[in-house]
Amino acid sequence: MRMRVLMIAPPGAGKGTQGALIATRFGIPHIATGELLRDHVARRTSLGRAVQEYLDRGELVPDQVVLDMVREAIVAAKAAGGGYVLDGIPRNMQQARAAYLIARDLGMTADVALHLDVGDAEVTRRLLARAALEHRSDDTADVIAGRLDLYHRVTAPIICWYRERGILVSVNAMRPAQQIGREILTALDGMRPLIDGEAALSGMAGVPVPCQRRCLPLSAGQNRCAVASPPGLAHLPATGRR
Ligand code: AMP
Repeated sequence: MRMRVLMIAPPGAGKGTQGALIATRFGIPHIATGELLRDHVARRTSLGRAVQEYLDRGELVPDQVVLDMVREAIVAAKAAGGGYVLDGIPRNMQQARAAYLIARDLGMTADVALHLDVGDAEVTRRLLARAALEHRSDDTADVIAGRLDLYHRVTAPIICWYRERGILVSVNAMRPAQQIGREILTALDGMRPLIDGEAALSGMAGVPVPCQRRCLPLSAGQNRCAVASPPGLAHLPATGRR
C-alpha cells in the first residue's frame, strides 16, 4: 500500500522496533540504513570493509554511500507497491535534501516524517542494556555519548525542516514500546484517507495538491526550530514539497 514514512530519532529511541511494526502493518519494505551497513560489515564486502571503522566509532559514513543505498531501495520499493518506511536516514541536512530529490525524481516523496522524541538519559540506559544482549561495537558508553552529540548537532535540526514541510508527526517515545507503537499506528491509520486521496489526485494531471495539509501538533517539550530550510529548496514548487 502507499504509505511512505521516514523516521528521525536518536540512537536507542526504538526506530528499528517501530519501523518493523509500521512495515508489517502496511505491508511495506523497512529500509534500515544501519542494518544494511552492518550486513555489509558482517559479510565483509568491500563496502563493509570501507565503512566498518565509521560504524565502530559511531560516526556517519559518507553521505554518498547511504544515498546510493537508499536510491536502490526506493527504486525497489516503487516496484513493490510504492510504500516504504525509512529508518536511519536522513541523518543530516545534506542527506535530507538529497533524499528528497531522489524521492521526488522517483515520484516517491515521504508522506510522514515520524520523530521519536526521547531524552538522552533514557536512550543511554536502553543502549547500555542492548549492549549486554547484542554486543554491537557502537554500544559502549563513550561511543553512545558521541552518537548522541552527533544526533543533537547534525540530525535533530532537520526536524524543523519537516515541520515546515507540514509532514512532521512527533511522538513521545519515553514510554513502553507497545504503547508508542499503538499511538504511531493510530496516527498513521488516521492519515490513510488523506494519503490515499493524494495518491488519487497525483494521478490527475494539473490538479494541485496542498503541501501543508497534515501539520500535526507536536508533543509538549519539543525542541524549537533553530535552523531555516536548507538552501536550494526555495526554488522547488510548493506542490508536493517534502
Ligand atoms: P543505526 O543502526 O541507525 O543506529 O546506525 C548505525 C551506524 O550506521 C551509524 O552510527 C552510522 O555509522 C551508520 N549509519 C546509518 N545510517 C546512516 C546514515 N544515514 N548516514 C551515515 N551513517 C549512517
